[in-house]
Order: sequence, then structure tokens, then C-alpha cells
Amino acid sequence: MSRDRRCRTCRTTAGPDGAPTVVVAVVDGQDVYACGAHRSAHAAPAGDPLVALAQYQDMAARRHPTRR
Ligand SMILES: [Zn+2]
Repeated sequence: MSRDRRCRTCRTTAGPDGAPTVVVAVVDGQDVYACGAHRSAHAAPAGDPLVALAQYQDMAARRHPTRR
């Protein structure tokens, strides 16, 4: 299953400034991505370990695109 990196609100994969969407929450085991503009609308409470793990995995996947 490929990752859906689109923002939950506007369905973009990159914000107006070109910054990629990031994982901001994990809901029912699904990574929730958001662009810079909508990050606060979806963000999980700070310090959620699931979110930290999802962000780590996302970054690892970007760094090694062939290793899914
Ligand atoms: Zn958005």
C-alpha cells in the first residue's frame, strides 16, 4: 500500500511555500498528513509517540525510496 501524503483538508502534497506535507497525527492506525496551512487543524496532542514514530518512518521512506 502506498502512502497517501495528501493534506487531509486541501489534498495537496506540498504547501504554498513548497514544503512537503508531514504526518501530524495517527488515527486508527492511519497516518494523517497535513500541509503547513492546515497542520494545526489535524495535529495530534504534542508528544504523541505514535506521531513521532510515523514521522520517523515517513522520513526514512523518503530517504530510501526503493525501500518501502
Ligand atoms: Zn492543506
